[in-house]
Parts: sequence; C-alpha cells; structure tokens
Amino acid sequence: CGIFAYLNYNATRERRHIVELLFNGLRRLEHRGYDSAGISIDADPCRAPVTVSSGAVLPSPPPLVFRQEGKIENLVSSFYHEAVVVELDLELSFTSHAGIAHTRWATHGEPSPINSHPQTSGEGNEFLVVHNGIITNYMDLKETLLKYGFHFESDTDTEVIPKLAKFVHDILNEDLGSDGGDKQVVPFTQIVMDVMRQLEGAYALICKSPYYPNELVACKRGSPLLLGVKETGDMRTDINVESDLSAEGHHGKPKEYYLASDANAIVEHTRRVLVIEDNEVVHMNDGAVHIFKFDSDKSRRLLRPASAQR
Ligand code: GLU
Repeated sequence: CGIFAYLNYNATRERRHIVELLFNGLRRLEHRGYDSAGISIDADPCRAPVTVSSGAVLPSPPPLVFRQEGKIENLVSSFYHEAVVVELDLELSFTSHAGIAHTRWATHGEPSPINSHPQTSGEGNEFLVVHNGIITNYMDLKETLLKYGFHFESDTDTEVIPKLAKFVHDILNEDLGSDGGDKQVVPFTQIVMDVMRQLEGAYALICKSPYYPNELVACKRGSPLLLGVKETGDMRTDINVESDLSAEGHHGKPKEYYLASDANAIVEHTRRVLVIEDNEVVHMNDGAVHIFKFDSDKSRRLLRPASAQR
C-alpha cells in the first residue's frame, strides 16, 4: 500500500502533467503491494461559490475523485476513459494545484471502487483522505458519527477520517460564527489535529479539501511518510517567472512538493527529502511547508467514543 501527493505552487502545470505525475508516483509504490488505487485532483476552477445540499458554501468546486480496483493501469485507463466521457480538459493549466493518490491494501472491506481511497466526507467531497494503516477504534467512531447523521458508503475503517474532519470543521466554524463561506478562519491543521485526537491505530494520512484550495495536510503515526521539496530556479525553462509574478500577483518562487510513503517515489523529482516522524503534521500552504508537532493538549476531544456513552 502507498500514498502519494503532488502540490505545485506558482508553477504552471497542465492537468495531464499533474495526473501523470500522480500515476507515476503510484507506479513507484507498486512493490509495496496493493489491490486498488485512486486519485483526487482539482475540478476546473469556477467563479461562483458552490453550494451543496447541506447548505455549505464551498470556496472552490468539489475535487474530482477517480478510483479503481486492481492494477494501477486499470485506474489509468478508466481515468482516461472517464475524462473523455465527462469532457475533462486535460490541457487546462493550474498555477497551483494539490493532487493526492493512493494504492490500497485492503484491511477492512473488500477491494472495490467504493472501498478504494480517497475516502470522502460525502456530497461535495468537503474532505478527502488517503490513508495507509488501520484505525482500530473505527467501529466506535462510526457508531458515533452515525448518531450525528452521517451516512457511510464504504466498509473501510478509513471512511471515519474524512467524516470526522467534516464534523470537526462544522463544529469549529460554528464556534467561530463563520458561515463556512469565503472567510476561512479555522486552519486546516487544527481540523486534522482534532481528528488525530480521536484516532487510535496506525496511519499515514494526506487530507485535501475544497475549503482549503492549494493546501494539503499530512500526518503520521506508525506508517511511513516522506516529504520532498523542489524549489526551482531550474523551472524557468517551463515558465516565465517574471510575467507570472506580475500578471498573477503571486509571490514567492515556484515550488513543487511531494509526499510519499517511500523515498522511491520522490527521488526522481528531488533529492531534498525529509522523513516525517510520528506525530508530526505537515502543512503545505501558500508556497510554504510547516511541520507541527501534534500536541494532544492543544487539540480537543470533540467526540466521545460511542462505547464511552453506554
Ligand atoms: N485500512 C485501510 C483500508 O482498508 C487502508 C489500507 C491501506 O493501508 O492501504 O482501506
């Protein structure tokens, strides 16, 4: 099993390039064993905020998810097939884009597209998670989330994670009096740390959300995770940095970030690789990476496990 992510900042990349980079990352993780695979990429940006049926207003459109059982090449061919069906523009360029990818070795729930990752919070893909490992207390968490009205579509242990993220997001925003709309007040890392607080077991996670476009948060406990950073002068060949700065109003050098469960998937892109340690939380945001130490005192236990309620 493996996880992989690619985030480009201030570096113009075509969707086809991004998708191929994700597929290649997964191919480099094949030796770890897997039975299914999946990716999530950004939808075409649209100007109007998207409202989902719960009433939540997403500042960017719901990310796209492609999942398939079997070999990575099954995912690749079904992706290109679907891309034609839904008229996905593969030539569309993104100045910044956050893509996540996964190969699954099923522990809970048979290999199937629905049990493949990314697992999601539900409609609108408000939170998306790729996960390696096992959440041992998922039954308790699931039972509690069911009581709060969440609907589960998979048989995985992982699905409680994006659902918890949505639960935490909604509570924190309510506390802050935010409507969850354009003014984003709760940091993505806060949500992930509050989720970590609830989880028992082993995991490496990468989280993506339309509330936090061009951001990724990753963390680990027990399962491997590495970060690669490519800060480029050498990308001047692909893009005109000067005009990009003035035309787009972006600041900072073009950068590319990689996350993977094995250095194998990163070293072809950059030699600057950092091994993430247990309880570290990696936040990629606005062209920078911050690594936080998970502090259980600073996160809040927002849910009482169902077992404790009996
Ligand atoms: N336990 C999770 C599942 O069965 C993740 C398995 C993995 O590490 O790939 O979906």
